[in-house]
Amino acid sequence: MRRIVLFGYRGTGKTAIGTILARGLNVPFLDTDTLIEQESGRTIPDIFREDGEERFRALERDVIATLPARDIVIGTGGGVVIDPVNMEHLRAASVCVLLTSDLATIGRRLARAPRPPLTNLPQNEEIAQVITRRRRQYAASADFCVDTSRTSTKEAADRILSLLEKGVVPAPERAAAFRWFAASPLPAPEHARLEALLTGPDRDVQTRFLGVAGFPCSHSKSPLLFNRLFKRYDLNYHYTRFEDPSIRTIMQVARDIDAKGLSVTIPFKKDVMACVDEIDDAAQQIGAANTVVFACGSAHGYNTDWLGIQKPLAGYKGARAVLLGAGGVAAAAAYALTDLDMEVTILNRTPQKAQELAEHSGCRWESWDAFSGINPDLVVNATSIGMQPDTGSPLRGDQLKKEMTVFDLVYTPPVTPLIAAARKAGCTTITGTEVFIHQAREQFRLFFGIDVPDTAIREILA
Ligand code: NAP
Repeated sequence: MRRIVLFGYRGTGKTAIGTILARGLNVPFLDTDTLIEQESGRTIPDIFREDGEERFRALERDVIATLPARDIVIGTGGGVVIDPVNMEHLRAASVCVLLTSDLATIGRRLARAPRPPLTNLPQNEEIAQVITRRRRQYAASADFCVDTSRTSTKEAADRILSLLEKGVVPAPERAAAFRWFAASPLPAPEHARLEALLTGPDRDVQTRFLGVAGFPCSHSKSPLLFNRLFKRYDLNYHYTRFEDPSIRTIMQVARDIDAKGLSVTIPFKKDVMACVDEIDDAAQQIGAANTVVFACGSAHGYNTDWLGIQKPLAGYKGARAVLLGAGGVAAAAAYALTDLDMEVTILNRTPQKAQELAEHSGCRWESWDAFSGINPDLVVNATSIGMQPDTGSPLRGDQLKKEMTVFDLVYTPPVTPLIAAARKAGCTTITGTEVFIHQAREQFRLFFGIDVPDTAIREILA
């Protein structure tokens, strides 16, 4: 039996439900807060009062790192989700169930059994604030969600037993989803894999799905990367390709099979915004989302492209930058560069689009041939020039000076004609593969709360 790990805010019923669940499965129940008290010989309120939250979190991390690997139900403290190392330990070879309750119910339960405060706010405000702050991490902790607001502890435990035994997607939805995948241009081995996972007689009902949503998306390296990461972290997931001309259809299929999330690529990054229930601030500002996380019945849109673009530029704060292009990825680049206080000038083939993006993002804009007069520290190519099969370069070699850093967001081929010309001119270069690596790392954290080292992603992509 895989471990069952219960996550959730205080007062959602982890201990009471976990005890009943463990009895039903005939395995032990361990509560991380109780283990911390036993190890330290003090109560949790005493640890908070005498040594503060930081010390408590360190004790919690030690306890979590040594939990048994199987045949057990584990109840966790409400704050374990904020630490990616805890998530790596707790998510490995486990079924993770997020318990949720509405704020009024949590307030009533905590009034009966007070816990040490986490802020100086009145109890109800603290609950609302802390849950909002941890919302991403709670979503990332969930393989399955159970709302305990209006159920008895016995009913909630029965619901978990049922989903462990039968899964959550009924047979007709699984069969319909498989017919849809079978009609899409997937390679034969992937069709067979999906058939086994969705409709096969020996299917594992606890396996869940993620995928890349695009049209086309057969070129995407995300399935290779994510499926290898699932093995590395022992996660019971399968990552596939959702290829269809309509993002609405893809979202419906994803919801029907209770998918955990989607990586969104060309041409859906803008259109997907209308298909999610909530949108992250950065995605809203950029006007595009490349990540959807489904949790507890709702879909959240995020943009990790801008983080992938910004990460290799950490040392370029305040630089003078030229941004070539004014399409979807240029909007993410404009957000990333202005967030680093750069002085950014946008140049684009269609000047009107450069003007629109400049006005939206607080940048300047000029006509394409103004490049030579700007003398930038950094050039970022966000056009599709140089993307296979195109062999062009947005700039000539004689326009590049060795003092410049040239960052090409195009990553097929790995060394584009622009990067080759920049290396010849003696420039520092950053390739589009860096963006892919860092944006995927951020996506993995949104999906599972785990921090993957860059080196692990590089090894897989090599
Ligand atoms: P997009 O929205 O279609 O924008 C394309 C941009 O390229 C527009 O500014 C367009 O100018 C310009 N352009 C296209 N052909 C041109 C040409 N022949 N001459 C001059 N300008 C030209 O595409 P996108 O989503 O922003 O993607 C742009 C590139 O970034 C793609 O190659 C994509 O693969 C790459 N990308 C990389 C990553 C990564 O992880 N490394 C992530 C996302 C995207 P007009 O406005 O004049 O049409």
